[in-house]
Amino acid sequence: MPKPSEPHRQVTAVLDAARRRLGPDGATEAALLLRHLLGVSRAWLHTWPEHMLTPEQAGRYEALVERRAGGEPLAYITGHREFWSLDLAVTPATLIPRPDTETLVEQCLARLPAETAVTVADLGTGSGAVALAIAHERPVCRVVATDLSEAALAVAAGNARRLGIDNVEFLHGRWFEPLTARRFALIASNPPYIPEEDRHLHEGDLPFEPRSALVAADHGLADLKAIVAGAPVHLEPGGWLLLEHGYDQGEAVRRMMSDTGFAQVETFPDLEERDRVTAGRLTATR
Ligand code: GLN
Repeated sequence: MPKPSEPHRQVTAVLDAARRRLGPDGATEAALLLRHLLGVSRAWLHTWPEHMLTPEQAGRYEALVERRAGGEPLAYITGHREFWSLDLAVTPATLIPRPDTETLVEQCLARLPAETAVTVADLGTGSGAVALAIAHERPVCRVVATDLSEAALAVAAGNARRLGIDNVEFLHGRWFEPLTARRFALIASNPPYIPEEDRHLHEGDLPFEPRSALVAADHGLADLKAIVAGAPVHLEPGGWLLLEHGYDQGEAVRRMMSDTGFAQVETFPDLEERDRVTAGRLTATR
């Protein structure tokens, strides 16, 4: 507990200290953390640099800055991340949505005509990012989202409620398992695809994220393979499968899809021009 004699501290002073603690890119994060703590806008911070924090607020702010300095992802500290202009709640039970995954959403939407009511599946939905972005853009479609993690599904369902998106259904289970015999016009997934030995797992936000959402056996290809293999019996004739994958897995995923009978197999780049999403179409169903 702060002692009564502790002085109140100005917004500018605490921001300066936080910036120094957080290093080169610290300015934006210092401001974001303070906005999160005080529940204020960016404009408010600029307008009231001389506002005094109570000793209690200053102490809580310092604790947030320390968590960030210890490597904890900003999105887990604030509990939020924006994806496709949707404000999503995220927790350590979910992967933090990446801007790269907007490529997956774009390619899905390009295959879903605006006024055509079809059903779409999102496998391994996590925070619900992909399912909610599609459902939001295609209100006439029904989206079914699955996840093996009940904790993640609770976050995703909470996001749907809070955003008022009511055309998504959340089902618990591994990949296709909870879909029983249902077929879809389009199946999307951003499964785990990082190889166990990848050094990126020790960098940035990744050490804090659920390993089950990141890492797959077989050089990162195990879950991609399982989804390609299981997709044909869950697709309608002419249905599409779209998968996010690693920048160096495009060729492997194209081969899997072609070998499984998919046509129009094509890979699309992410924002940094790396292979990121492969799509394929099933012309004849089984
Ligand atoms: N694209 C993420 C990363 O490399 C991984 C996401 C995933 O495994 N699906 O950080």
